[in-house]
Amino acid sequence: MIIVLKSKATQEDIQILVSKIKEYGIDVQITIGKETSILGLIGDTSVIDKERFACYKGVDKIMTVQEPFKKSNRKFHPENSVYDIAGVKVGGKKIVVMAGPCSVESNDQIIDIAKKIKASGASFLRGGAFKPRTSPYAFQGLELEGLKMLREAKQATGLPIVSELVSTRYLDQFVDCVDIIQIGARNMQNFELLKEIGHTRKPIFLKRGLSSTIEEWLMASEYIMAGGNEKVILCERGIRTYETYTRNTLDLSAIPVLKRLTHLPVMVDPSHATGLSWAVEALSKAAIAAGADGLMIEVHNDPANAKSDGAQSITPENFDSIMKKLGKYAELEEREI
Ligand code: PEP
Ligand code: MN
Repeated sequence: MIIVLKSKATQEDIQILVSKIKEYGIDVQITIGKETSILGLIGDTSVIDKERFACYKGVDKIMTVQEPFKKSNRKFHPENSVYDIAGVKVGGKKIVVMAGPCSVESNDQIIDIAKKIKASGASFLRGGAFKPRTSPYAFQGLELEGLKMLREAKQATGLPIVSELVSTRYLDQFVDCVDIIQIGARNMQNFELLKEIGHTRKPIFLKRGLSSTIEEWLMASEYIMAGGNEKVILCERGIRTYETYTRNTLDLSAIPVLKRLTHLPVMVDPSHATGLSWAVEALSKAAIAAGADGLMIEVHNDPANAKSDGAQSITPENFDSIMKKLGKYAELEEREI
């Protein structure tokens, strides 16, 4: 439920209203705008008698929000959310690029890739230390050792780091070590994990579930935000459809839909979306044209021998050439990269 205030509502009117609402155990998010100010009511608003509250001084109108997501809803927060993460603004004018190998494989590998992607303009180094693989017999990642290597690559290059957390068991180490915690597609609806990271203050990179609807995805972000952690970045990484030529089907339409529904930054992962290294460039351009705030691209120094996702990984040289081309697309959208 949203209460739109009259432009001449006073601080006192607002305070009286807010304390009355809070008596019902409902949280209130106050947004003071230049022209319109609004109160976002979060909780079970069925106990609120709309007609009675419409009589309060300073109230212009009361609207019921249909969507079940509240904290991520643009209606409560009309401006785009922009986070400063280790000095990088995510969700702002600059299209943020995260790049790196699917799996961290060795110190030399990750430092070499980190240096190269930084020189090409990436803002974050992303590498997997814990890999949620379909087969239990496939490479599962270097785990805590991999996390240490990522930290060393950060020290060597100054690039902030992103890595996927798969279990609450390692939450403390992730909070200590990484700049952004990634929650992968397979864990998008691991509600216990979402609740735990919601109690941290680490920015979260929340990938879309394998077959999740946009609403389910936003409700997953709500689990994190309800715990008080409001720095959530959404990442469209393709969904499962009947098409098998590509690994997944990149849902480009999710980008403008999300930009309309939510204030959270929206990024796109063209690598997992297609599973094809040669398709990364085209879909990166398309993502920018559709309004994405950033890209997550898998880059490997030796894709043919990568321990995971080699077929979709581009080389640092290819990444450099793509980054140069993307500048023009960003400009068309009045953005930079
Ligand atoms: C990944 O980012 O390496 C990954 C496993 O992606 P997803 O969770 O989107 O499959
Ligand atoms: Mn991968």
